[in-house]
Formats: sequence, C-alpha cells, structure tokens
Amino acid sequence: MVLENPGTAVRLGPSLKKRAQNFYYPILLLDSIQDCCQQAVARKAADSPHNPNQTPEGDFHTFVNKLAHICDSRPRGDTITALAVLQDESTGGKVLYVFVSNSRKRQNLLKTKDDLTAVLNILKANLEAKEKEPDDVLFKRLLRMVLRLNTVRVQTYLAALAKDLAACTKACNADPSPENQTASKALNDLLQLIPKTTADSGQTSDSFISSVISCIQTVQRYRQTPSLQNFIKRHAAKEDKMRKNVKSCPWSNLHHIGGRLLSYQYDVETLISAHHMWEDSDLFRDFEVNFLDSSTNSMSGSLNFPKLTPESIIDAIPANTCTTREKKTLIQCVNELRPFGLDESLEMQWKRRHDPIVHAEMMLHDWLSRTPGGVRNERFFGGWQYIGVSKPLCRLCRYYFNIIPTPVQFRDSHPNTYPNWRLPDIRPRSTSAKDTQEANEEWLEIMDQMKARVYLDLRRVLVEKTTDRKMNDSNTYTDKLSLAGLFMNLELE
Ligand SMILES: [Zn+2]
Repeated sequence: MVLENPGTAVRLGPSLKKRAQNFYYPILLLDSIQDCCQQAVARKAADSPHNPNQTPEGDFHTFVNKLAHICDSRPRGDTITALAVLQDESTGGKVLYVFVSNSRKRQNLLKTKDDLTAVLNILKANLEAKEKEPDDVLFKRLLRMVLRLNTVRVQTYLAALAKDLAACTKACNADPSPENQTASKALNDLLQLIPKTTADSGQTSDSFISSVISCIQTVQRYRQTPSLQNFIKRHAAKEDKMRKNVKSCPWSNLHHIGGRLLSYQYDVETLISAHHMWEDSDLFRDFEVNFLDSSTNSMSGSLNFPKLTPESIIDAIPANTCTTREKKTLIQCVNELRPFGLDESLEMQWKRRHDPIVHAEMMLHDWLSRTPGGVRNERFFGGWQYIGVSKPLCRLCRYYFNIIPTPVQFRDSHPNTYPNWRLPDIRPRSTSAKDTQEANEEWLEIMDQMKARVYLDLRRVLVEKTTDRKMNDSNTYTDKLSLAGLFMNLELE
C-alpha cells in the first residue's frame, strides 16, 4: 500500500495564484543572474567518508543520507530522494523506511522500493546468518549492487571523467618536467581503466561493474598519494583564480567527479558500519520500505509569467526591505550586468515552461506533519528526528524549514535557488470555510516570509557581484563574471 498525504489539496484560486506567481519574479531574476555569471552554478559538496568521531546520532544521520543517496540514481535532479526512518505503533512496531523522490513515476518508485529493500536484505541476511561474512566480502557484494542500481548516473560520471582526464593529460604533456610526466602517466592509467561500453550495451555486466570498481580504487589510491593530490589541487586552484566557466575547468572537475565516484564506496562502508552498530535493533531485522508519490504541479498548473524588466522586479521590493535609494543602486548593478547577457537570460525565463514541484524533503516533512504522530520524536527510530536527503538542501528548502516550526533536522544547504520549487499543497483540516481560510492564510504567511528572504538574497547577490567585478577589473578573465563568495566552489576541501 502506497503512503498518501491525508486530506484534499486545494487548487489555487485566481488571487492566490497571482500571489504565487509574484513570488517567483525575484527568483527568476536571481536565476538569470546566476545564469549570466557563468561560474554561478555551485557544486554540491561531494559526500565524505564515514567520520569515526561522530556521535551515534551523527552516525545515524550519515546512514540515512547514504541510503537516500543510493536511491538517487539519475542525474539532473528528478531522483533526488529524501528518506526518514520511523518506528512506532503506526508502523506496527516495525522499522519503516519511507522515501520520496523529486519526480519519479509510480512504477519507478516501486522499483526503487524493491532495490532499497534488496540492499537492506543483504545486511539482514548477514545478521541472521549463523556464520557472518567478513566485512570485505559483504563490501564487495554491496558495492556491486549499489553500482548496478546507479549505472545511469555512474555512466555520466565516467564520460565526464574521461573527458577531463584527456584534457589534463594533454596539459601535462605540454610540460616535460618530471612532475608533469609522472602526473600524466597516472592520469592516463586511470583513463585506460574507464570502461568503453555504454549504458545501452549490457553495461550492468559483471565486467562493466568490475571496471567501475577498478576506477574507484584508483581514484582512492590517487587521493592517498600526496604528491599527485597536491599537483591536481594546485592546478584546480589556478583554474579557480582564473574564474573561468566551470565547464572548462578540467582539474577542478577531475577532483569533483573523483569524489562523486568515491561516494559509492563511502555509502557501502557506512551501511556496513551501521549494520554492526545497530545489529541488536530492528533497523536491519524487522523493517519495511515504502514511499510517497512524487509531487505534482496540480496545485496551480503551469505558471505563465507576463514579462517584467529587472527594473520592475526590483521596484516591487517592499520599502521595508529596500529603500528607494538602495533600489537605485541595485538598478545600477543590473545595468552593469547587461553587457554580460542579463536581459537575454531573463528573456529565456519567460519562454521556459514552469511547473514547480515540492522538493522531496518538503514532501516528506509535510506528510509526517499531517499523519498521526506528526514529527514527534517518539515516531522516529531512536527518537532521532531526522530527514536524510541525497543532496544538500537548496536555499529555498532551507528557508522554508527555518520559517516553519519543526524539530526535524536536515543536512546542510547549498547556496543555489531553483525556480522549479513550490510550497506544499494547501490542505485544510476540513472542507469548512473557516478551515479553508485558515489554511490559505497560513500558506500566504509562509510565502510572504519566503519572499522577504528571497528579496534580501537578490539585493545581496547584486551588490556582491558588483563589488566582485570592481575588485577584478584588472583580471584577464573579467568577461566571465563570478558571484564572489556566494557561489564559491563548495566541493574543493
Ligand atoms: Zn529544495
């Protein structure tokens, strides 16, 4: 039985829809600024290995994030997954792993449920076996399974890695120094390990998975070789200074994608360590996996935006957030961005189809809040009120959880905002006019508070951008602006 959010969602009437629409204008402008400042797309932090100095609760958070990461099997955001672990009378005393993904069809959710159950069953079988398998045997079996489930995503990493390795090797070959030649050989060795098969040609064969594991092992070995690691970091830092487009930064990318591949190893290490840590609990012995359907855009349908100029978006900022004088300064900032394609970038927004969805972590939190037990600690395994996510939270989700009162914890956030975001549906307690009005008002109140924060962001981004540009006027690469400090490369340690 699929889990469902109780109550009926209200469709937005014309006046609420207009308010909702107005909410997006500053976000669309922010997105356009990010777009025309080419370095704007912040990389999300790569997952790190298990930290042995965490508290049991910290270990549990890591474990839940890793489970969510295993479910996030495709690139581009549709499979971003949130997951919570519950155990109370509503689950019949069993442990219930409940997950939500950003945008997955029911059939795919059912498959993900089976996949996650299969992963957990391997650990269950080991705990229940008379003779337990050594960790290294368990590790190999689980890693193969996790990589198989994530083949599509892994393929995109390998394709990108091959491209960046080729570019970096070429750069090394241009310099005959021994350091460059040693690095060139190491990078080329890794390049040769990348399997040539594609996603459609029997990629999940044992040999493909074996090749991926060899790549991961090699990346791991390189990370433990200080001379090579420093060499790569030095080049990545140089690229960073030059503030070129992220896409043309092979050294930074190399480091970044290497981290992404290693994250599968960390996932499996964490699972194994968790099954030892909680071997006497029901976590891996008596459990079920279930899911909620992904968000739809049913609340308001697609949004169509009448065109606005950056000036009119700035002009709409309430006076208590931004004075007339400050608005003038912001418009100057906009004018400075115009030669770099701000208007064109904003123009694209009006042409785009906007079907905002409720992000997975918000869907899951909303469902918890509206079902018996709510977000009380007794409802969660170990009393740990936590929702794990496969990626750091986006800025708008972070604002939302800061605005609503919740004891639930989440992982850190990254600084990007996405226009493809919306508040959870309005679900009145009953169909009475009073409850409906109350629910509408609560929803508007949250939206207004969100909007106030977005306006502050817009103001800050515009000002910081200008400052940054002035500081870098002598830079050879000023034709590629960057949002200093705000959209720094988060991934490099
Ligand atoms: Zn989000």
